[in-house]
Amino acid sequence: MSVLASTSAAEILERCDRLATFSSLPDGLIQRVYLSKEHREVNDLVAEWMRQAGMRTWQDAAGNLCGRLEGREQGLPALLLGSHLDTVPSAGRYDGILGVLSAIAVVERIHSSGRELPFALEVVAFADEEGTRFGRALLGSRALAGTWEDEWWALEDEHGVSLRQAYLDFGLDPSRIGDAARRPEELVGYLESHIEQGPYLEDENKALGVVSSIAGARRFLITIHGRAGHSGTPYERRRDALAGASDAILAIERIARSAQLIATVGHLEVWPDAVNVIPGRVEFSLDLRGEYDSERDRIWNVIQDMLSDICRQRRLRWESVQTHSAPAASCSPRLKGVISDGIRATGDQRPMSLFSKAGHDAMAVAEITEIGMMFIRCEGGVSHHPDEHVTEDDVAKALDAFEAAVLAVVDDTPDPLDPVSPTPVG
Ligand SMILES: [Zn+2]
Repeated sequence: MSVLASTSAAEILERCDRLATFSSLPDGLIQRVYLSKEHREVNDLVAEWMRQAGMRTWQDAAGNLCGRLEGREQGLPALLLGSHLDTVPSAGRYDGILGVLSAIAVVERIHSSGRELPFALEVVAFADEEGTRFGRALLGSRALAGTWEDEWWALEDEHGVSLRQAYLDFGLDPSRIGDAARRPEELVGYLESHIEQGPYLEDENKALGVVSSIAGARRFLITIHGRAGHSGTPYERRRDALAGASDAILAIERIARSAQLIATVGHLEVWPDAVNVIPGRVEFSLDLRGEYDSERDRIWNVIQDMLSDICRQRRLRWESVQTHSAPAASCSPRLKGVISDGIRATGDQRPMSLFSKAGHDAMAVAEITEIGMMFIRCEGGVSHHPDEHVTEDDVAKALDAFEAAVLAVVDDTPDPLDPVSPTPVG
């Protein structure tokens, strides 16, 4: 019989409120960045909650907070459950945080059930997912994945403090960064629950969803060359780069929309940028992301053909430079299955599958172990904003589903000590 009470959805929301007070911004706004005073304070508090849940805790070489509940014997490979505790500026109180606190509550439930597991459970509270301070996202999870790059030590924050110096100031030893890296053979997999940061679950009236993949973005800088000229130039003689770019940008939206991809043009510059001069050159950005890399890359080819057509008709010329490329991280069929099983256990017999348009720690962890993710409905799809909101009912469902998912992994894992009788999902 257990002496531990399990943390309820209401208590988790209270904990989210409490963590929201650890902020470097005044007036109730939330900002918590990597290697800051607030980072240390939340690590200390969350570590206390991890210990109350039955875990042994430590801070790893990258400042990630880890908690571990051993399986039926010491030192077994671990199923990682995680998300992040850092935030963007003027953040909401659930992005990342809810995933960490839910994972702790699920470990607490399993621990208090007295059930022995064929693997260890670890909660990882990643220290830097958003990249707010140093402009580079996933620093915490990249350290854990062992994909840290030495050139990052020279990154500087807005005050000119290098990442290396920030490590030293925080009491971490940059030369030990490799200690944060986990080896694939130490891991069973990685599960993350996270608010959706989009409106798709709400639109379908679903509390929870299973993530198929985390989209990888390709980014381009596209330049359209025309000829600058006096605004008195007749239309048939104009080679207006901005009119061509406008055509192209609308076509990009149309093409991506019909292919159910996300294309965003968020930056545009015009030369010579004068009220009475026909634009001779326009530069604009394109961020293209999709559920699968193959589909994303096929649409990029369609967009290039469209650019050529428009430029031919308007006697323009175009070129592009790729400025960023990341592959999509696919959730494994097995862990998609356990998340779906978990959602079914809450009464939703047709779990909705969706891909993540935003990046997550799971992308980095996917380099070393299989990943699965569950999304929780957030109001209006609003995130990275103080209005970010989830309901207590949805959090309660998320806890049940995540616990059932972890137990589904247990059922799916051959137990070397007891190979014949896996216990049913409770
Ligand atoms: Zn997040």
